[in-house]
Amino acid sequence: MGTFLFHEIIFGPVSSRRLGISLGINLLPENSKLCNFNCVYCECGWTLENSFVKKQFQPREKVRLALIEKLSVMKNNGEKLDVITFAGNGEPTLHPDFAGVIDDTLLARNTYYPKARVAVLSNATRLNSDSVFNALLKVDDNILKLDSARTQTISLINCPNNDYNKEEVIANFMKFKGNFILQTMFVKGHFKDHDFDNTTEYEVESWIDIIRKTKPKMVMIYTIARDTPLKNIEKISLGKLNEIARKVELAGFKTSVSG
Ligand code: SF4
Repeated sequence: MGTFLFHEIIFGPVSSRRLGISLGINLLPENSKLCNFNCVYCECGWTLENSFVKKQFQPREKVRLALIEKLSVMKNNGEKLDVITFAGNGEPTLHPDFAGVIDDTLLARNTYYPKARVAVLSNATRLNSDSVFNALLKVDDNILKLDSARTQTISLINCPNNDYNKEEVIANFMKFKGNFILQTMFVKGHFKDHDFDNTTEYEVESWIDIIRKTKPKMVMIYTIARDTPLKNIEKISLGKLNEIARKVELAGFKTSVSG
C-alpha cells in the first residue's frame, strides 16, 4: 500500500482512530495535494513543487451541494455519523472561502445530523487570517498541529514553506483561549542527513512547556498508521505514546492516544 489521494469532495464515512465515524470533506484538488507543509509522514505523499501553480480549490457551492446530498442519503439510510471532518488532500484553511464553507457545513450538520461534531484538521499556518481564525472558533473540534517545540525538528518533520513562524503559531494558539485541540504526530527517522526524534525527553519537555502556555482543551497524541512518503520513518510504540500522555496529564491536560 502506498500514500494516497482523495478523489472526491466528500469521502467516507470511515471509522477514524481519533474521531469516530467520520465523513470527510476535501476542499483541495481531487487529483493532487496542496499544502504549505511537506510532512515526511503525510498520507497524501510529498507536496509537489508546482502544486501552488494551479491552486484548484473546490468551489464553495459545489461542496455545499455534495455535502447536503451525502448527508441526506445517509440520514435516509439510517447511517450513524459522529463527525464531519475537514481533511483531504492538503491544508483545508488555504481555501479562499474557508469561512463560507464552514458556515454552510454547520447549517447542513444542524439540518441532518445535529448531534454530529464538525472537526477541522489544520497545520495552524493560516491563523493570522481573521476569517480563518473566526471560522475555526465556530467548529466543535478545532484540531491544530504542532509536532515539536523546536524549529529544527519542525523543519525536518514538517518541511514548512519559508514564511512559517513557530512563535507566531504559538501566539495564535493562545488567542483561542483554550478552545482548540493540539495534535502531535510522534515519529523517529532520518532525513536530509539528520536524525529526527520528537519523543526524546528534551523534545517532550519543551513541547509540554508550550502546552502549559497555550492551554489546549485536549492533546491528541498519535503516530503513523499508514505508508509515508519518507520510507525510513519509525512508528512509536503505544507504550511510549502512553508515557508521553501521562506527562501531559500530570501537567493538567486531557489527552487522547492513537497508536
Ligand atoms: S500538514 Fe497535513 S496535509 Fe500538509 S503535508 Fe502535513 S500531513 Fe500532509
